[in-house]
Amino acid sequence: MRRDDIGVQLSGSLREFRRDLHRHPELRFQEVRTAQRVAERLQGLGLEVETGRAKTGVLARLPGAGRGPHVLLRADMDALPTDDLKSVSYASANEGITHACGHDVHTTVVLGVAEVLAERPASAGAVTFVFQPAEEIPFGEESGGQAMVDTGLLDDVDVVLGLHCWPALQAGTIGVDSEIAMAAKSAFRIVVHGTGAHAATPSKGRDALLAASSIVVHLNQLLGREVDPGGRAAVNVGTFASGRSQSIVAPTAELTGTIRTADPVLAKRLRQAVSRVVSGVAVAADVEATVEWKNDM
Ligand SMILES: [Zn+2]
Repeated sequence: MRRDDIGVQLSGSLREFRRDLHRHPELRFQEVRTAQRVAERLQGLGLEVETGRAKTGVLARLPGAGRGPHVLLRADMDALPTDDLKSVSYASANEGITHACGHDVHTTVVLGVAEVLAERPASAGAVTFVFQPAEEIPFGEESGGQAMVDTGLLDDVDVVLGLHCWPALQAGTIGVDSEIAMAAKSAFRIVVHGTGAHAATPSKGRDALLAASSIVVHLNQLLGREVDPGGRAAVNVGTFASGRSQSIVAPTAELTGTIRTADPVLAKRLRQAVSRVVSGVAVAADVEATVEWKNDM
C-alpha cells in the first residue's frame, strides 16, 4: 500500500479522534484523559510507549529501519481556559475549557504520522513521537515543554519537528516557513503600587490603575520606535487587573504580557525599553512599579 493510500484510509478515524479530543479538552498538566487516549492509540500500533513523562506527557519510539538522524516529532495536548461558543456536535463538554489553540489538531496530526510510519517504516533513523503537556501557561508557571526537556528528552535527538495549525491556510494544505515562523517569548509581570483614596478626593491617592493604563499604551508604541521595519518582534499586554470599587482610586494594578522575537539583540533592547517605560511612568505618576521576567529567551 502506498503512503498516500494509508493517509486516505486513516483520515476518517483521525477526524473522529480529533473531534473526541476537541469535545473533552483538558487544561495544563491535567491532560489525563487525552494522554490515555493517545497512549492507547500508540500501543495499538505496537510502539514502545512511555506515559507520565513530566506528569502527563506521552512518548513513543519507532526504532530506525535504516541509518539516519534521530528525529523527534512534537505535539502539545492542553487546551485553554475559555468558553467554547461553537454549536457543533464536538463542541467542548468541559465548561470553561476549549481547544482554542488547535492542540487537538497537533496531537492528531503527529498520531497520524506515527500510524503511517508504523505501517511502513522509512529506511531512516529512529523517530520519537512526543505529546507534551502544558504549552499554555499563565505568567511564571512551569511550562510542559521545559519540564519535558528537563527529563533529558533531547539528549540523543538530532532533529526536532513541530507544527501548528494555521486557519489562514486551506484545509489539507501543509505550509512550510522558509524562515522563522514563531519566536520564543519573554514574559513580564508589572506590578504598580499607588495609594488608595475615595473617588471624591482623588488627589489624596496615587492612581495605580491610571499609571498602569499609561504603561499599556506606551508598551504598545514600542514596536514603532524600537524596531525597524525589517525587524520582527511582537509585544503584547495580555492581562490587566486593578481596582475593586467604582468609588475608590485603585491602589494597585498588575499587568502581564510577552515580547517575542528571534533576535537576541532586539530582545535585550525591548526588555530594556519595557523597564524604561515602567520606571518613567512610575516617576510621572508618583507610584512604585516593578517588572519581573520569566521564561526568558
Ligand atoms: Zn497553543
